[in-house]
Parts: sequence; C-alpha cells; structure tokens
Amino acid sequence: MRASTLFARTLREDPAEAEVPSHVLLLRGAFIRPVMSGVFTALPLGLRVLRKIEGIIREEMDASGAQEVRMPIVLPAESWRATGRYEAYGDTLFKLRDRHGREMVLGPTQEEVVTPLVAGDLSSYRDLPVSVYQIEWKYRDEYRPRFGLLRGREFLMKDAYSFDRDEEGMHASYAVMMDAYRRIFDRCGLTYVVVEADPGTIGGGTNHEFMAIAEVGEDLYVTCPNGDYLADTEAATPRAPEPVGELDLEPMVEIDTPGAGTIAEVVEQLGRPASRMLKVVMFDAGGSPVAALVPGDREVNEVKLERRFFPTPVRRFEDGDFERLGLVKGFVGPHGLPADAVVLADHAVAGGANWVTGANAHDRHVTGANVGRDFSVGGYTDLVQIVEGDPCPECGEPLRIERSIVVGHIFELGTKYSAPLAATFVEEDGTDVLYQMGCYGVGLSRIMAAAVEQRHDEQGIVWSKTIAPFEVVVVLANADDDRAVVEAERIYAELRERGVDVLLDDRDERAGVKFADADLIGYPVQVVVGKRGVEAGTVDLKLRSTGERSQAPLAVAATAALDLLATAP
Ligand SMILES: [Zn+2]
Repeated sequence: MRASTLFARTLREDPAEAEVPSHVLLLRGAFIRPVMSGVFTALPLGLRVLRKIEGIIREEMDASGAQEVRMPIVLPAESWRATGRYEAYGDTLFKLRDRHGREMVLGPTQEEVVTPLVAGDLSSYRDLPVSVYQIEWKYRDEYRPRFGLLRGREFLMKDAYSFDRDEEGMHASYAVMMDAYRRIFDRCGLTYVVVEADPGTIGGGTNHEFMAIAEVGEDLYVTCPNGDYLADTEAATPRAPEPVGELDLEPMVEIDTPGAGTIAEVVEQLGRPASRMLKVVMFDAGGSPVAALVPGDREVNEVKLERRFFPTPVRRFEDGDFERLGLVKGFVGPHGLPADAVVLADHAVAGGANWVTGANAHDRHVTGANVGRDFSVGGYTDLVQIVEGDPCPECGEPLRIERSIVVGHIFELGTKYSAPLAATFVEEDGTDVLYQMGCYGVGLSRIMAAAVEQRHDEQGIVWSKTIAPFEVVVVLANADDDRAVVEAERIYAELRERGVDVLLDDRDERAGVKFADADLIGYPVQVVVGKRGVEAGTVDLKLRSTGERSQAPLAVAATAALDLLATAP
C-alpha cells in the first residue's frame, strides 16, 4: 500500500468533540470518522486494525473448536419477549417495525437466535457438545453515546455460544473459552485483569469480565493490595462488619428536623454521623414496593437489587409512587412502610442499633429506632455500593477501586435461555433435556479503543505489531531525490516479498509531515530513506514503542527492519 493513494487524511488539531485519548487519536490518525452520535465509519486504517483483531479472534475461536456462523442483525421481537429481555433491556434495545407492523429489534446479543437454531438442528445428545460463534455488528441505543468507540451505539463483537448435555460439560466448555480469551487479549497486547462479575441482564451464574486497565475506563473493579481479591464493583462484596456488642437500646423518640430532607442536613442538625443514620431507599419491583435499608453514609447498589429481583424490572420510586402510598419523600422510616413492602437491609444494618431515621412525616425524624422492636426486616443481603477502603472480604485489608474498559465477558448460562425458549435435545434414555449453555462476548471495536488508551504518547498511537494497521512504514523523506525514490521502492518491494505488512509513504509532502504522521498513526517500525542517507549508503530505523533510532546499510535495510520488528511489542 502506498500512502499517496491511501484514504487517510490525518488531522493536526485535537477534534473538539473528543474527550478521551482513544477518541482523539483514532480521529486524528484517520482511523474513524463520525456519522452521528455513537456511530462511525471505519476508514482503511481503522478497518485494517479491526481485521487484524478479527483474525486473532477467529484463529483462537477455531482452535477452541467453535464453528463460525453468521446470524442476522434484525431480529423478531417475540423471542425477546419470551426471554424477558425485551423489558429487561428497556430503552437500550433498538426497536423497529416493518411495513406490516411486526415488531423487531436490532440485536445487541444473539441468545434468542442461536438457541432455537441449535435446538432445531442438533437435537440429539450425540450432536453435543457444540459451540458456535460469529463476528458481527451489534446495537445498543445508548442514552448518551460518548468516548468514541468506547461507548458507541454500533459496535463490532464476537459472540460465541456453547451447548452441552449437562453442567459438567458446560463447565468444561467455559474453561476452554476462558483459555481462548486469555490468548486473544495476550495476542492483542492488552494489559488486563479477569474478574468475577455481576450477571446483569444476560443473567445466569458464574461469569467473568476481562477488563483492560485504563485511566479513562468507566468500568470499575475492586482489588486488594494483597492480591487475594478482584471483583467488578457491581458484584463486589465488602467484608460484613463486626457485630457491635450489646448496646443499651434507647427509646424511639420523634424529633423536629425542619427543612432536613437529606442525610447531610440531618447530620448537620443532630450532630450524629451519617453512619448512624438508617437510609430507606424506595424501589418499585414490578409494581410492588421494596424498601432498601442501608447506613446513611452508604449508597444502594441498584445492580445487586436488580439481580435479586431479575427478571422483574426494578426502578427507583418517583414522586407519584410516594404520594400513592402515603409516604413522605425524604422522611421515610422503616416503621411506617406499607404492609406489603418487601424490606431488605444490608448486612451492615444488622450490626447497628439506635438508628436515626425518617419519621414518615414532613420535617420529622426519629432517634433510637431499633430492628425487631420498632421495625422489621424481611431479609439481610448485600446491598451497599462498595467504596475505596472497604475491608477485603478475604483478608480485611482496605480495598482499592481501579478503572478499566471491559473488552470481554463470558457467562455460564445454564438453562436461562433454553428453558424460556423450550430448547431441548433428546437424551440417551429418550427424555427431553434442556441444553446447558454458555455465552462468550468480545468487543472488537472496544479492543481497538482500549489498545489506544493503553498505548499512546504525546506523538500518537503505539500499536502492538499484532494489530497495527501496517507493521512497517517506509518513509521516503525526499520524494524529489531520484536515488532515494529508487532505494525506498526497492526496500518496500523486498519487505512485501518477505511477507511484511508494509506501507510506503511516497506522498509529495515535507519529511516533517511524514515523520509526524508515522508517529501519530503508530506503525511499530519506521524505515526512513533520505537523500543524505542514500549518499552515505544507510537508512535510518526507528522503533515506535521506545523511540530508539538506529542505522543500517542500504543493502540490508529490509533485514534490519525485520529484525527490529521482531523486537517490537
Ligand atoms: Zn485481601
């Protein structure tokens, strides 16, 4: 490929709309162009990167025994209703109607397609196990698309699905995929952690996230400095607090707290710490009221609550809900809840006593509220959002919260989809049995963005050679010098002959522009052919990752470039 004919107009300035390095650099380096919010065109350089990531994934999936298929993007809504995900995804699901008024969705994942597919064709125990995968564009109607490829509405994904006879088989399939995933991310040159995660709307049991460590990442994970605990913040469970010793129970007393509708205002008025307040957060779970009780200094982890009620949708109370049940927003106490309310409390509440909480009346609170005597709790569970410094559930050391970009997510689904979709196979004894499934996702466009977040500097991107758009760039520094042209063409031809993915920068541009572009676009190895070098019988070489420069005799320039490429990360 020649830069003179390559569709790649690099940008000198940082685009105003881009907030994170990957977005800035992928725009500036002419990898992508925006079409609308969260939707991009991949230019030739960007598509080359995606194709390389795709090649690595395809190799590893094929090696794992999975077979490639291609499923449609436009899907019937019925099967999404059958699994409960039409509601569970809510507005995030792209919905449309055809001319006959039939409801359809744009697939964000394909369990609803692949499950009946396999059940229709591979319905004997003799056909199992089987794993299939596809690499296809997926859709999510993000409320606020941002950060370029990191939170887009259209994204390229590899999704795989395993079908087994029993749980043991499912665990084995899961383990094979786990290994394949490690190899994929290693080969893509990512620095990542594998953490146990929340099942979310996909549901199921055991699941792991592959999180590429990145400062701008929106996906938080919790880690212990002792290295004995690693978890998604949404799934993380702090060590349950030590139960407090016998306390003298105060009587419950109602007090005036004028204008104090928030925890901070009550703390201010009463001079008691927020941790001694009992916060009652109201939710609606499929039409029924749910009260979540947590200490005043903690937030409710809504994901944990959603998981508990899944597939029933859970949402926070709105003003109308409070009015309808006669509750006073900002002053709800656990002793004045409707009889049919489900009352759940975090483990931290079990250890406390003499709580300050709402009095179920405007501008009124109570002190000395005690569980058992003044209010009851339907169940203790893990409800709080973990925070930096919470004790590690393994060793008690303060936990740290780190940022990352989730690039892969794998799940043991069990019969979560085979049951609602009635997907069965015939067992050896003639009975119909539900498939034990697993599903496995990788975001290719996310890998691309995460790689840039992890590997860039002031000058631009530093691609790992496995996914760089080209491995080597031959920079013709003086396009007006005939001898330099001849030598650059010769080196370019030799590198191509030797199987190197090489670009010749033969543009009619100043050398400085070409050097800047080579650094910005981030080719792992640069070979510079200039007038002075040619006169001296040498070329200049540069390893992008370290910036290290060296020289080689003209005659062996291609070999020197290959040797340098071998040392590139
Ligand atoms: Zn620990």
